[in-house]
Amino acid sequence: MAAPLNQVFFPATFQELFSAWGRFDSAVPYAGGTGLIRDQGRRTLELPPVILSLDKLEDLQRISRSERYLEIGAMVKLSQIIRLGKIVPEAFRDCLENIAGAQLRNIATIGGNICYPAGRLDASAALTALDAQYELRSAQSSRWISASRFSSLPGPTALKDQELLTRVRIPLDQWNYSVYKKFSKGRRGNGGVVVFLVKTQKNALTDIRVVYKTAAILRDKNSEAILAGKQLPLSRRVAAEFVENWETFLSGIQDLDELSQKELLNFIEMNVYNLTE
Ligand SMILES: Cc1cc2nc3c(=O)[nH]c(=O)nc-3n(C[C@H](O)[C@H](O)[C@H](O)COP(=O)(O)OP(=O)(O)OC[C@H]3O[C@@H](n4cnc5c(N)ncnc54)[C@H](O)[C@@H]3O)c2cc1C
Repeated sequence: MAAPLNQVFFPATFQELFSAWGRFDSAVPYAGGTGLIRDQGRRTLELPPVILSLDKLEDLQRISRSERYLEIGAMVKLSQIIRLGKIVPEAFRDCLENIAGAQLRNIATIGGNICYPAGRLDASAALTALDAQYELRSAQSSRWISASRFSSLPGPTALKDQELLTRVRIPLDQWNYSVYKKFSKGRRGNGGVVVFLVKTQKNALTDIRVVYKTAAILRDKNSEAILAGKQLPLSRRVAAEFVENWETFLSGIQDLDELSQKELLNFIEMNVYNLTE
């Protein structure tokens, strides 16, 4: 249906939401709105003509925790997640604490950060490293997709037409070494961020994940395989091999400028050498 100007829907159920979306296929979900009005310096804001406010959908506000997972509804604000404290995996908490200022974090939602169509924002890096899953819902069905796949599919987002992100499920694994770094503060989610996670058991390194985000998400599983299963502390030779592998991997990535490559390699080198004798 052709959209009359300036309609805002406040559905309280998914049925109401998808029914409105079915009638106005160009309608846009509105979470905190900080992404939708971003970079508009004008006096009058421009908004999509038909808006589906997600405010009244209670399911999207839920937070629950089981022994293995933390589940967070798409409309939960970044600051609410931070306030959950130590239940939240450290890398994810660090990531959220570094997004903009407190006022923005009180408005912006996790769903909006993940679904922002003009590029990957910071939460994608931490959620990919932590092996999070996203629940996506359409009028007829719902499906789960890994954060890694969601962020690596081509196109603005991996959402199909008229599909909503409803829930984020984060495994509550115990990471023994967790470092998050944002290279360029103040670039509003467009700059590089990296997560470095290590799991150990007795004196062996059992899992390592290094995930870097700029315009895209980068992860090199070949480099990670070099360290998995190795005794700790690592030998300097193995650490050097890990860094060299990353260097080779990055040299094949187009669109990554020299400064970002250097920043990232320095970070990786410093952290992997922290695990040596
Ligand atoms: C000053 C400023 C500084 C910032 N700094 C950073 C930063 O340092 N790091 C960073 O990562 N980001 C940064 N951002 C971006 C900010 O994090 C995002 O704007 C915010 O997370 C989006 O959340 P929102 O709830 O406001 O989403 P909205 O603006 O409501 O939505 C964003 C997009 O996602 C879609 N959407 C929202 N929810 C859903 C859903 N559940 N399902 C499907 N689609 C959905 C909307 O239709 C829209 O296209 C900054 C923004 C500003 C304005």
